[in-house]
Order: sequence, then C-alpha cells, then structure tokens
Amino acid sequence: MDILSSLEEQSDSLDTDAPLRAELMRVVLEYADSFLESIPDAPAYANRPLSDESLLLDAVPEQGIGLERALQVLKDDVDSRGINTTSGRFVGYIPGGGLFHSAIADFLAAVTNRYAGVAFASPGAVRVEDQCLRFMAEMIGYPDTYGGYLSAGGSMANFTAVVTARDAHNIEGARIAESVVYMTEHAHHCLDKALHLAGLRSCLVRRIPVDAHFRMDADVLEAIVEDDVSRGLNPFLVVATAGTTNTGSIDPLERISGIANRHDAWYHIDGAYGALFALCEEGADLLRGMNLSDSIVMDPHKTLFLPYGTGALLVRDKQFLLASHSAGADYMQDAINVPATSPATVSPELTKHFRGLRLWLPLQVLGLAPFRAGLREKLHLARYFHDRLRDMPGWEVGPEPDLSVVIYRFRPSEGDTDEFNKNLVAAVHTDGRIFVSSTRINGSYMLRLAAVCFRTHKPDIDTIIEVLQELAHSLDSFTPGSN
Ligand SMILES: *Cc1c(COP(=O)(O)O)cnc(C)c1O
Repeated sequence: MDILSSLEEQSDSLDTDAPLRAELMRVVLEYADSFLESIPDAPAYANRPLSDESLLLDAVPEQGIGLERALQVLKDDVDSRGINTTSGRFVGYIPGGGLFHSAIADFLAAVTNRYAGVAFASPGAVRVEDQCLRFMAEMIGYPDTYGGYLSAGGSMANFTAVVTARDAHNIEGARIAESVVYMTEHAHHCLDKALHLAGLRSCLVRRIPVDAHFRMDADVLEAIVEDDVSRGLNPFLVVATAGTTNTGSIDPLERISGIANRHDAWYHIDGAYGALFALCEEGADLLRGMNLSDSIVMDPHKTLFLPYGTGALLVRDKQFLLASHSAGADYMQDAINVPATSPATVSPELTKHFRGLRLWLPLQVLGLAPFRAGLREKLHLARYFHDRLRDMPGWEVGPEPDLSVVIYRFRPSEGDTDEFNKNLVAAVHTDGRIFVSSTRINGSYMLRLAAVCFRTHKPDIDTIIEVLQELAHSLDSFTPGSN
C-alpha cells in the first residue's frame, strides 16, 4: 500500500458517517439529559478534590478510549466536583446558568465551522454577530457610529476598551506616567489587569471614595480631577461601574459623564454584570446614562444566562476601535475589499469561535420577553431576600440592593463577627446544598448573594434562607456561653 492510502486509512476515524453520528449523539444526549435532570437535586457545591487515579493526570492516549469512557471521566472528575453553576441554589460570584439553547447553538457553530472573523469568509456569521451587537447598542442608546465585538468575556472586553481609550488619547511614552485613571475600589480587578496588559502600569490610578450605597461619590471625583488638572496631570480615563461585582451598586452614570466630558477624558462603563438589566423597565430606570459613555462592556454569559465564553464591548465611535485593531497581511488580500466591518479589524482576534450564534439563536428562538422577565424576577428576588433577612433576628443586611446582589452577615451572640461569618461560609460550602460567596466591605467580612441564574426562583431563595438560618444557628449554639 502506498503511503497516502495508508495515512488515509489511519486518519479515517477523524470523519464520521451517519450511523456513527447517530450513535455518538445518542450517547451525548443521554449524558446531557441525565445531567440536566439531576440539577434540581444536585449539590450547588461539591468540595471533592481530584483523585490521584484520575485519567486526567495521564498522558493523552495514542489509541482512543472511546466516547463512553471519556464521558465517564467527565462525569466523575469534572461534572461532580466544584461549584455547580447550573444550579438555581448557586448564588455565589456572578452565576448565569448556561442556556441549553446556547449549547445547541455551540454544537451547530462547531459542526458548520463558519469563519466568523472576517466578513468575506462568512458574511452571514458576521451579520449574526452584528445583529447581536446592534441589539445591545440600541438597548444602551448608542448612536449609529458605534462599533463593537463579542469577546470571550468581560475581562477581554474591558482590556480592549482600555487599549482603545489609550490610543484615542495617545497615551504613550513619557505621557503614561502623568496620565490618570479614575475608578472606585469596587471597580473589577480585571481593569487593573487591563491597565497592565495595555502597558499603562505606570499610570496614576485614583480610587474615588463611595457613598453609603457603595456608588462613586461624583463630587469627590470632580474635585480630584480638578486638582489633578491644576497639577499639570492628564485625566484620561474615567471608569464607572454599572453594577459592581461586590454589591451590585451603580455609579451615578449621568453625573460622571458630565465630569469626564468637561475634562475631555474617555468615559468607560463596566457593565459586565449590570448593563443588561436595562432590558427590564426597573433596570433601565436605574441605568440611565449608559448612552453617554465612550465605551461599555456587558457580559451575556452573566446577565443573558449564556454558558461561559461571551462578553461584549461597544464603543460609541467605531473609528477608535478600528484605529487600535486594524492590521493587514498579504495572505489576507482577498478579504479586505469587502465593505462590511469584520470582527478581526475591531478586536484582537482573527480566527475565532462563531460565538455570535450562541447569543443569536436563543434570542431568535425565545424572543426577548422571557429574558426581560427573568432579569426583572432577579431584581425582585434580591429585594425579597434582602427584606426577609433584614427582618430575621441575628441577621444584618447592607443597603437595599440596586440590582441583584445583596450583602449580609450574621451577628453571633458573642465572639468575633468576621470569624463567625468565615466559619459560616465554610459550613455552607461543606454542606453543599447552596453556594454563597463572601467579600470584604469597609474591612468587614460580608456574605454575598447574587441572584442571576435563570433557574433561581423564589423557592430557591427560600431554601437558601433556610439553610443559612440552620447553619448560622448551629454554629452560634457552639459559641461558649450562648443559650
Ligand atoms: C464579571 C465581571 C468582570 C469580568 O468579566 P469576565 O467575564 O469574568 O471576564 C468585569 N467587571 C464586572 C463588573 C464583572 O462583574
């Protein structure tokens, strides 16, 4: 046999025929079904480290182990350990849930393997992404000059925004050290990372104080910017957060816009968690002023309930995105004489996942109505949780939530409150029925509930309250001298 026939035969298993596909799909669907059916009873957290025996620690095999065995590894070593972000009782960090409609879109995007980076290669795939971006730009109220791209997540989108702002203001060389960035201590840490990645490590970063609702104090911002100007510094970037990760607070977006404008600074809004709440009426009221920004980030893999892997950046004036991200190559010459903007010219990526489909398909199939209702439900659930806990003896809550994050803690009958609440979180994690996370607010250890998963409904919040109450009281009764 000649070498080519022999290699053809050996690589033949890379392709599939219809009967084999039917068999693979049967096995995978059975797995997916059994996973999805188990969600109502599955723990929200399973603190089980990987065993030393795991196949995941072995070298990749020369001969395949087959789908059934591979799925067994997935089940034992991946899907039954760690946080379960699909659970309605998972309210730690910022959940999302993972829409099944996005999962089937991912499947189709992979099967058809459309090239979504360049309009010439797949005008339709680029249009799918464009339609998603237009929907978000209209929700924000941006003018037609906007540009944007679907990123892997909020961190990448914020990074791209910082790079765009940097270039729009020519922040380079000696100017870097006299340029100033303004944000609160509650701004997401990915912005610090973005400044580092963008080569702006030596910029001055001013942490603007917050008010009692953890929103940026705009008066102090104005005073600090003016002081910086009078000292010959260059205020170039103001970052407001529309829904902080810590407390869900919304900085005063309209006032901050005025200050940024007066001083010719780039105005960026990090709405990774919060911006999409504008889809429901209550949220839109709270988020007024998003249209006044130069750039904004939002995360469909949080507040549109998508599986992880999709954030979005919108920039008011597409020229700035193009200026930072366009580049050419000889081998791309067929692709450039196409009038449509390509994702590759407004983002750091070239060959990329057709990630628009995982957003587009659920929006088309289901329509916006259930998303609006789901988001509105989360706002109401957070208030419900806040008000119930406030009325329960022993519990202390933060301010009425702006969006769907609530901070709270238990006041033990004696002993150190921080220590007690750390133990309470540890007890919640060992128990596993629910998952809540913690943060530090003004130096105090606080528990945090983020109602974002589309599967979180009132009965889940009731269970969360019951479990918290049960565990707090069992820990409190161990306090020497109590009862
Ligand atoms: C989650 C979050 C980010 C980071 O986004 P990723 O999608 O996790 O990369 C940035 N800002 C805020 C406000 C967030 O909540």
